[in-house]
Amino acid sequence: MPPRNLKVLICGGGIAGLTLAVLLERAGIDYEVFERARQVRPLGSALGIGPNVMPMIEQLGLLDQFLTISKANDFVSNFNEDLELTSRYAYTELPERNGYANYVVPRPKLYDLLYSQIPSSKVHLGKRFVSSEQTTGSNNNSEDEQRHGVTVTFADSTTAYGDILVGADGTYSGVRQNLYEQLSQQGKLTPSDMEELPCSSICLVGQTGPLSTEKFPHLREKYCRFENVSGNAISWMVIEHLYLETNRTTILENTEWGTASTDTMIEAVRQFPIPSGSGSNGSPLTLADLIDETPRELITQVALEGKMYPSAAQGANTAIQDAIVLCNYLHNMPDASPESITKAFEGYHQEREPYARQTYETSDRLRQLFRKRPINAVIRFLVKYIPQAVWNRVFDSIYGNRPQVAFLPRVPDRGLIKAFLQKSLDL
Ligand SMILES: Cc1cc2nc3c(=O)[nH]c(=O)nc-3n(C[C@H](O)[C@H](O)[C@H](O)COP(=O)(O)OP(=O)(O)OC[C@H]3O[C@@H](n4cnc5c(N)ncnc54)[C@H](O)[C@@H]3O)c2cc1C
Repeated sequence: MPPRNLKVLICGGGIAGLTLAVLLERAGIDYEVFERARQVRPLGSALGIGPNVMPMIEQLGLLDQFLTISKANDFVSNFNEDLELTSRYAYTELPERNGYANYVVPRPKLYDLLYSQIPSSKVHLGKRFVSSEQTTGSNNNSEDEQRHGVTVTFADSTTAYGDILVGADGTYSGVRQNLYEQLSQQGKLTPSDMEELPCSSICLVGQTGPLSTEKFPHLREKYCRFENVSGNAISWMVIEHLYLETNRTTILENTEWGTASTDTMIEAVRQFPIPSGSGSNGSPLTLADLIDETPRELITQVALEGKMYPSAAQGANTAIQDAIVLCNYLHNMPDASPESITKAFEGYHQEREPYARQTYETSDRLRQLFRKRPINAVIRFLVKYIPQAVWNRVFDSIYGNRPQVAFLPRVPDRGLIKAFLQKSLDL
């Protein structure tokens, strides 16, 4: 049984925030989601959802719905600018080894699926987190405010009160920033946490409207390749690798960043060849064929920070795993006291930290396949000689971590590679 009267405030209604909300809903724990966007916009590209989070989707009873909005991915193929295949690795052994395929799902459809699992009254749009304050209740009169808790203030000057605040507000988390400022004032912030996140690439993403399967015949295939997405549309992205790492402030200070910068990048990449499809006379296609099929408001430019490189397809999976493990610990709390909350977060940190670190490091290694330095060209050349067995070992190390929700009926562990130990499953 979860503790009575526990209230969780979730700032950010992205993948992490919505997944946590769905799990808290199932756990019977009170929560509210505060999202800064005024409306849910169908922005973004495809997400790779792997065997490491599929057990949760099955536990939630959402497997069938998920399969209708996604498509299994069999190969990841890397081409050079002349469309020569430089390396290729297969996901085809994942179902046997890790229990599930790797699926590609359009981000807006995954959002819709998660949203459909929680009452709309629990999600507050147009609420931009500004600050939080821990309240000890020493001089408050109301019963609620006498408890230890946290008061959050939003940009529209409204506030919310709860026992726990979860910052699910993305890479440039305002919640974390606010916490860091408080820790800094107390002299508790470590020097590495004071540094800005490095930014190593800029990405243009979009999703086309429905496409002609005459022009893009591969859309009829059973499996989708890395660059293709389910149904009759394509989620696409172009990544410009910066020669030198910089930081987001520098990019945003560049006066050209914004709509004009996106338009410039769109123009610059139009003539890039794409590997799939062909024109009416069999001529090769370029990105212009996709860009012209994509509504301009659905094309966004993103500065990619840190080392969670999107082609490793682990950011959303990691966010979902975080939500599963955190919810397991919250559900197991004996009461809503500060001591129990601290213990729950300690357990969560101990369980997640090694896996999150490992995923981060694997993602960084994959990033080396695409960087611009001369050494990366050598790496690209050598990578095609890596046997599939080695790739399988890499995938096992990622997809062996298949956390389940402790308070929902378990699903059988189907992979030949047994799921790694999960402490919060047996609390
Ligand atoms: C091009 C691209 C492709 C990717 N492909 C994959 C993939 O294939 N597989 C994969 O696993 N991962 C992928 N990722 C990574 C993945 O998208 C992220 O890791 C994931 O979205 C993180 O989820 P999140 O909920 O933590 O943050 P986000 O999805 O960034 O959500 C944060 C939310 O918080 C809101 N917010 C921000 N600030 C505030 C505030 N102050 N107050 C209130 N709300 C706020 C934002 O509006 C947003 O809705 C990709 C990333 C990119 C850029």
